[in-house]
Amino acid sequence: GGNMTLIEKAKSIAAEFEYTPEQARAGVKEFLRLMDVGLSNDGEAMTMIPTYVTKVPNGTEEGVYLAVDLGGTNFRVCSITLKGDTTFSIQQSKVAIPKALMVSDSKSLFSFLAKNIAEFVKEHHSDHFAEDATHHLHLGFTFSFPVDQKAVNKGYLIRWTKGFDIPDAIGKDVCALLQAEIDILGLPVVVAALVNDTVGTLMARSYTSPGKTGTLLGAIFGTGTNGAYVEKLSRITKMTKPGANVGEYDKSTGEMVVNTEWGSFDNDMKVLPDTPYDRALDKNSVNPGIQMFEKRVSGMFLGEILRNAVLALKESHNIFSTATIKTDSALYTPWSLDTSVLSYIEADETPNYLVTRETIQKEMGVYGTTVEEAEAIKTIVHAIGKRSARLSAVTIAAIVLATGKLGNAPKPNTQSAESSDTKDLSFIEQGINAIVTAVLGKPDAAPLVDAPAPTSESPVKADKAISEDDIIDIGVDGSVVEFYPNFEGHFRQALRDIPEVGEEGERKIRIGVAKDGSGVGAALIALVAYKMM
Ligand code: ADP
Repeated sequence: GGNMTLIEKAKSIAAEFEYTPEQARAGVKEFLRLMDVGLSNDGEAMTMIPTYVTKVPNGTEEGVYLAVDLGGTNFRVCSITLKGDTTFSIQQSKVAIPKALMVSDSKSLFSFLAKNIAEFVKEHHSDHFAEDATHHLHLGFTFSFPVDQKAVNKGYLIRWTKGFDIPDAIGKDVCALLQAEIDILGLPVVVAALVNDTVGTLMARSYTSPGKTGTLLGAIFGTGTNGAYVEKLSRITKMTKPGANVGEYDKSTGEMVVNTEWGSFDNDMKVLPDTPYDRALDKNSVNPGIQMFEKRVSGMFLGEILRNAVLALKESHNIFSTATIKTDSALYTPWSLDTSVLSYIEADETPNYLVTRETIQKEMGVYGTTVEEAEAIKTIVHAIGKRSARLSAVTIAAIVLATGKLGNAPKPNTQSAESSDTKDLSFIEQGINAIVTAVLGKPDAAPLVDAPAPTSESPVKADKAISEDDIIDIGVDGSVVEFYPNFEGHFRQALRDIPEVGEEGERKIRIGVAKDGSGVGAALIALVAYKMM
């Protein structure tokens, strides 16, 4: 309303970003439903892509592998030496992907990638250019866009995300596109595995994880957001339907890693929170109506949400009326505010919001901000970051519940009636185990290394140690989860807010950053793929 002060208006905008426990619970319920839908049918928005990776490593794997990573912002090339004792060494190079190549043609993009691989191999692995041309380096290709995977080294691009738009690549096998350009340069390199960064994160965390249980889930909160987890083959009913178009895979483990593509969770907007600032962002994006979850959570978008909210403050309260705004201010340039700006402002505890005002000057080109204006901006920043973290918890809660890792029996996927030939009854056994545990209790174990950090908003009681057997290990990667202040605190509060997880369940969840996750993970998948050839 017109009578509000600037701070009151900022608080009312912040309130629009509130994500309540009830909303989170509804979110989990819808996420569980869409998991089942995606596991039963091809072509769903939350795609639930079978990755053909059927086991996670245990830390004993060995060898030298190449890994390349086409993420959202950079192209990384590295070689990894797996030492077989949960440790590894890594050499790497990184180059920013020129913006023009993100919206070009596939030949321009993939020849750029191959040239960077050539430079790296010449510098670090010149031995492989020796006369023995059969001695090839095996490469894991981390390609973090939705693909229709048909083998561990074959995947057809479904659609671009994260600002990429190269129409002629859609429907093509991206491994073949890369191999063709590598062969043109005569490099001794074989593209052995196609890897989604979430699967890489999962594999890397499982190789280095301190626990003995194996990692359940790998999750990315960086430019984009996505997650991959270990699912029972019997629940991936779209692979066993009559007439299903699937490649060969090892069925002995009874499991397969599934890449959820949760960035597209609830594109129908049944349960996701929505504000005018989200709507403005979506309207001006390259893919309106798509990746709706990602647009509320990940690094590519939080800056733009903030920009839209600040513009609203300008309209209603003429914020910065006494300041000097540069004509090329990021405020007036769509997509120009980096999420690191939110991190700096969120972290600011200086008197009179000194850091916030400096950041607004440096990053938004606004000189002479008042204390009140800085406070207003910080209020909104906090609300946007907190909503992102709380939304992130929905995905983890749902997957932990769907896989029965809290001792609850996972429900068989009832979306498809044709799947009765692959009955898996182990969930009944898990359910019985859960009852036995509930009645008899478990012996106390040593306290956790990575015990959840108490947050200022809701302290955690550290009264009871959790058995190592009950730990649910999750690997995460990405600048948002790594650097956004108290992201994990908000995230854990949201987990506790979901009754089916609760305080007890939240404490069983161990979250660790998978350092160099995409590289090590890609190497591990190249290794697994090579062993299968
Ligand atoms: P990618 O996802 O491209 O592999 P990152 O994990 O580094 O790479 O994510 C990059 C994204 O993280 C960008 O959208 C950027 O805005 C955001 N980002 C970079 N630094 C920070 C930070 N300190 N705090 C929060 N977000 C950040």
